[in-house]
Amino acid sequence: MKPIHQLFALALAAITGFTCAPNSAGPAPDLVFFNGNFFTADSLQPRASALAVLDGRIVAVGSDEEIKKLAGEKTGRVDLNGAFAMPGFIEGHGHFASLGQSLLNLNLLNSKSWQEITGLVAEKAKTARPGEWIEGRGWHQEKWTVSAGPTVNGYPYHDALSAAAPDNPVVLYHASGHGLIANEKAMQLAGISRETSDPVGGRVVRDANGNPVGVFEENAMNLIEKPFGDWKNRRSEAEKVAAFEKAVQLASRESLAKGITSFQDAGSDFWEIGQFRRIAEAGQLPLRLWAMISQPKPSDYGRLADYPQIGLGNDHFTVRAVKAYLDGALGSYGAWLLAPYTDKPDSYGQNTTPMDSIAAVAAACRQYGLQCCVHAIGDRANREVLNLFEATLGGNHTVRWRIEHSQHIDPQDIPRFGALGIVAAMQGIHCTSDAPFVVKRLGVERARLGAYAWRSLIDSDAHLANGTDAPVEDVDPLPCLYASVTRKRADSGFEFFPEQKMTREEALLSYTLWNAYAAFEEKDKGSLSPGKYADIVVLSKDLLRCTPEEILQAKVLQTIVGGKVQYRAQ
Ligand SMILES: [Zn+2]
Repeated sequence: MKPIHQLFALALAAITGFTCAPNSAGPAPDLVFFNGNFFTADSLQPRASALAVLDGRIVAVGSDEEIKKLAGEKTGRVDLNGAFAMPGFIEGHGHFASLGQSLLNLNLLNSKSWQEITGLVAEKAKTARPGEWIEGRGWHQEKWTVSAGPTVNGYPYHDALSAAAPDNPVVLYHASGHGLIANEKAMQLAGISRETSDPVGGRVVRDANGNPVGVFEENAMNLIEKPFGDWKNRRSEAEKVAAFEKAVQLASRESLAKGITSFQDAGSDFWEIGQFRRIAEAGQLPLRLWAMISQPKPSDYGRLADYPQIGLGNDHFTVRAVKAYLDGALGSYGAWLLAPYTDKPDSYGQNTTPMDSIAAVAAACRQYGLQCCVHAIGDRANREVLNLFEATLGGNHTVRWRIEHSQHIDPQDIPRFGALGIVAAMQGIHCTSDAPFVVKRLGVERARLGAYAWRSLIDSDAHLANGTDAPVEDVDPLPCLYASVTRKRADSGFEFFPEQKMTREEALLSYTLWNAYAAFEEKDKGSLSPGKYADIVVLSKDLLRCTPEEILQAKVLQTIVGGKVQYRAQ
């Protein structure tokens, strides 16, 4: 069988009449890029040094000599100085608004002292309105290199935090997500005093005198989250819109800086979808967004009749899929398994949405012509979705329904992805992030044969997609590509069943053409082929030829969307 990218290129040439051979007839291009080292992801012409752009689309790909000939008087010329360039990265599964939200809040993952953290809060408080909550995440007292002063169980007192933001409630989540520290203002709003008792399954951390120090563990976090949630809900529509716009702006900037030209959003509600649409149509979305509607309530199925919505805002926003959630995550024993957890023999994990509800979502997708994308991590969850898709689609293998994560698959089920035309939307980086606990949870055999089984899936003709699940992981494609081709942790050198790794070219395709396919967008994106968008990333390393470690050192030099430079390294 011909590789899919080759078929696409051939089909495209047939449809559009474009060929790769530059042709001097027709209007002069707006822009030519030359002196580049292009990997095009198009098997008809995989390498080139130049390309020409007209109206945001590629019109020719070839040698410097061939392309420069096409340039007219008004054509802009961009010398790439020999740099490596390829189709812009397509994030195959991330959470766009949450990514922006996470950037809006304080990121404390790398902070080295309590003083540094309270300093960041004081800085933030300077521009915050009185009463506005300040949120942060990622602190860990064991990473601090300077004494935090008096502590209780290693935790600091809230005093410095309260002094840093006297007029703003502050909530800073622990890196584990299982605790938080609040300042005085937040505790006042929550009505916390020495009389406050510990809720079931939680602890208000207190000093020897019984006074709360500011740290709340597990279910005690709810005490602080209650007034925080109330405040969020009380915001006016205008405030919510402004916060959302800010998040979109930050997520766009962050993605573009990492070479991402298209982003597949794995689940937004109708309000968020409406906001994305408005922002895109106002020309305020600098990259291309493709979104899934987050699992609607049955009473909202009728609203799906308004979709798909394709190519809005000058091809910057598309909604053509629905997301549903079948199980949880492996780390927290939430993945739904066929056999019990190796390290928790009484548990098969969690089926978070009943199968008949998922079936109703799938039926609605069928009715309205939408892609059905189901979150499935465990092998039981994956089998259930494959069974459901097989039954619902009745032999139609062209709809590109997706299993989000497809993380642990029973070996018997692996060939079914290819056979049924189901996309395995995976995240290379999850493999190496989760590696330390996968064998504990699944045992060696299940982990070896079915965990992140990229090689087995590709070899059985499955369509893969790749991504990061940002903000769960950093949205940066480079560590994800490194994980995809090495299955190795850069910090410890630990390798996770390397026989399942991708080749270098497969990994680059998984982040470009394969993700475009998973969104029905391969006619417009995913390779640098005549007729497609001039969505390009320029990098400091040749990702096909550099050493694996150099992938991690590569810098994004330029990110180009529709021929327009949207990010340039300083
Ligand atoms: Zn996700």
